[in-house]
Amino acid sequence: MVSLLLTGIGELTTHDPAHGGPLPDAALVVEAGRVAWTGSARSAPAADASSDLGGRAVVPGFVDSHSHLVFAGDRAEEFAARMTGASYSAGGIRTTVAATRAATDEQLAANLARLVAEMHRQGTTTVEVKSGYGLTVRDEARSLAIARQVTDETTFLGAHVVPPELADDPGAYVDLVTGPMLAACAPYARWVDVFCERGAFDADQARAVLAAGAARGLRGRMHANQLGPGPGVRLACELGLAAVDHCTYLSDDDVDALAASGTTATLLPGVEFSTRSPYPDARRLLDAGCYVALASDCNPGSCYTSSMPLCIALAVREMGMSPAEALHAATAGGARALGRDDVGHLRVGARADLAVLEAPSHLHLAYRPGVPLVRQTFVRGSEEHGPGTGLR
Ligand SMILES: [Zn+2]
Repeated sequence: MVSLLLTGIGELTTHDPAHGGPLPDAALVVEAGRVAWTGSARSAPAADASSDLGGRAVVPGFVDSHSHLVFAGDRAEEFAARMTGASYSAGGIRTTVAATRAATDEQLAANLARLVAEMHRQGTTTVEVKSGYGLTVRDEARSLAIARQVTDETTFLGAHVVPPELADDPGAYVDLVTGPMLAACAPYARWVDVFCERGAFDADQARAVLAAGAARGLRGRMHANQLGPGPGVRLACELGLAAVDHCTYLSDDDVDALAASGTTATLLPGVEFSTRSPYPDARRLLDAGCYVALASDCNPGSCYTSSMPLCIALAVREMGMSPAEALHAATAGGARALGRDDVGHLRVGARADLAVLEAPSHLHLAYRPGVPLVRQTFVRGSEEHGPGTGLR
């Protein structure tokens, strides 16, 4: 079994409580795709191969727990219109639905592969991918089958928006989602999601979708409280969902419910950036004892960034998080939102998913926004992006 020693690490973030913070002058050994050892570079064991990182920082690979990467076309014109005065509503999703239905499987898979590669170049090593731009049995099922080729974290989001052909009969669409569509999609999905928002689905509809998914063995997550206050966050907490995402408009009761339930609040600041909306108050959630994750929500409408470093920078600059809290939310927080304990940290035994930064510390992720700081990305211990100095 070939082992790899990464040494000369200027600062190593493991999220191991025993380390009490990032380790200076560190090393890490990878074996069989897992972290086998971490500690001071001076006491590192021998390995079959080694790479000196020259004082660069190493952080856990980002866990992007919320994205919509199976689609065709883009909505750059809609973005431009929004930036010059038009307001955002969920209805623009229908533009992407039409383009996605018209695309071939090969076109959808190629666009997905392009975006996943883009994420690897920015340090993301785990990504959740949702359906939700097909909105027919055939198009949702093929979206998930294609997503399953790149990740185990696939989410059935038939309940994204009511498609135009059923705009007059949303009840019939919920019946379709919870019946034949779910039956066709469940084999390719780990999660079921619903957009609980005015203009999308109400609390009763959300409850029906999540219950039907649960009956098929799918765990629940939810989009809620993005465009205004609503019942979604409290419903997610009541149902014990792994995560409720957006959380932009929260009442005190919502925050209390999040703190009491342990449901992870996933904040998606790229959306607020790209729709010029108020940011969620991460500080309020953290101070209340809630679990917080950061994710990209990469999608062609409300937020077409795939950059977790940008989300970290926004969370620090606009949402009251410290750089360390934002990094934790973008790694361990995302892992928790996906019910995973093998990723999002670099404790011994973790999957060896990590990013080598062209920087001496993790602080630079927020301190140098917009700069391509990820020099190398390792997934399961092999180099997925970088100059080729690690094992492949
Ligand atoms: Zn979303």
